[in-house]
Amino acid sequence: MLKIYNSLTQNIEPFETIKPKRVSMYVCGPTVYGDIHLGNARPVIFFDVLKRYLSYIGYDVLFVSNITDVDDKIIDKAKEEGVLEKEITDRYFKRFVEMTHAVGSSLPDMMPKATEYVSQMIVYIQDLIDQGYAYARPSGVYFRVGKVSDYGILSKQNVDELSQGVRINLEDDKEDPRDFSLWKTTDEGLRYTSPWGEGRPGWHTECAVMNHEIFGGEIDIHGGGTDLKFPHHENEIAQTCAHDHHHIARYWMHVGRLDVNDTKMSKSLGNITWVKDLIQAYDALAFRFLMVGHHYRMPINYSDDLMQQFSKEYDKIKRSLKKAFLTVSLNKAFTVEIDEEHRDTFLGWMNDDLNIPNVITLIYDLLKAMNKEKDVFRLAVLYQTTKTIMDILGIMPRFELTDDTINLYKAWEQARTDKDFVRADQLRVKLSERGWM
Ligand SMILES: [Zn+2]
Repeated sequence: MLKIYNSLTQNIEPFETIKPKRVSMYVCGPTVYGDIHLGNARPVIFFDVLKRYLSYIGYDVLFVSNITDVDDKIIDKAKEEGVLEKEITDRYFKRFVEMTHAVGSSLPDMMPKATEYVSQMIVYIQDLIDQGYAYARPSGVYFRVGKVSDYGILSKQNVDELSQGVRINLEDDKEDPRDFSLWKTTDEGLRYTSPWGEGRPGWHTECAVMNHEIFGGEIDIHGGGTDLKFPHHENEIAQTCAHDHHHIARYWMHVGRLDVNDTKMSKSLGNITWVKDLIQAYDALAFRFLMVGHHYRMPINYSDDLMQQFSKEYDKIKRSLKKAFLTVSLNKAFTVEIDEEHRDTFLGWMNDDLNIPNVITLIYDLLKAMNKEKDVFRLAVLYQTTKTIMDILGIMPRFELTDDTINLYKAWEQARTDKDFVRADQLRVKLSERGWM
């Protein structure tokens, strides 16, 4: 049985869904005002693997990931370029989709945009005001943190200590410095009419409302990067506790950080690597291999050396697979049969809180077994087993065998049979140049 680490309880727990054999999953998506960097790509890759695995073990998964297309950063960027916000958000949404595909992920089943849910957000905020959980001020509407006894449940923060850490802004007209914004009144940039004046919704409200609208109740998994735990996820939970009396999801899953040479990747430090640049220099699947090669909850300390190391390893894996693919193809030995023992080991590691690093070790074992295997049908089974596993991780390379290559290979075999070693050697070089030897 699948067990996963639940950030809400800080325990590894058996995965029991609300509805049998169905999984509802929501993952916080990007604010579309810039390209995606390596850190942004980590949840895009991990939750794609999680969905593939859940589907493999028989769940029907509905995977929703939102797009934040109304935000101060978007407005600033639009101003900077002298264009409308929509031009910015359309452009970077498109880039996000391209990069999602580039790193080998499928798109989520639904990608709701915040701007499509503004009227529902207004109704939701009004509900919170009516129930005494929120209040309007000239600067906007705020959530009354002190009224939710579970506040701090996810980030394990002490609410009283929290208030001491919050910098008090003299211009703020909030009752309590911990209170967070549900609606920001403004006369600048993209804005909407509301009972509290023109303005735009707060980010934490966007996710709480889209969850509420799309799923209509508690879901199985809510995910995101670990940096979103506080304040974003804590504030999503606070609103849902007030509005619907649950914690949004049974299981909260957080993906670890990606640092660069031991420091946080950030614009201000100038150490950002964009996915679009990285995949010019490396096979995008080698990058995905690096990402899944680290346990999803652990931080990754990224460096060029680390990328090169994983790239070399991935090339080796590709070569081994290609060799096996060639033998299986030439002998027309393809099968759908997979090796049960290895499959069980795979399930065991995945069910243990998605222990993908150990699955990678299993892949190496399978490659070793393939390299030694003399029986072509047994080789085909091992190949199919490896392919099944690597497809779930999204790191299986695609091979195409042309007639030309088949002819070269046959000629090479013939030359060896004829003991024409000079010709065999020439043919071997040609095959090797194409990566088939
Ligand atoms: Zn969110």
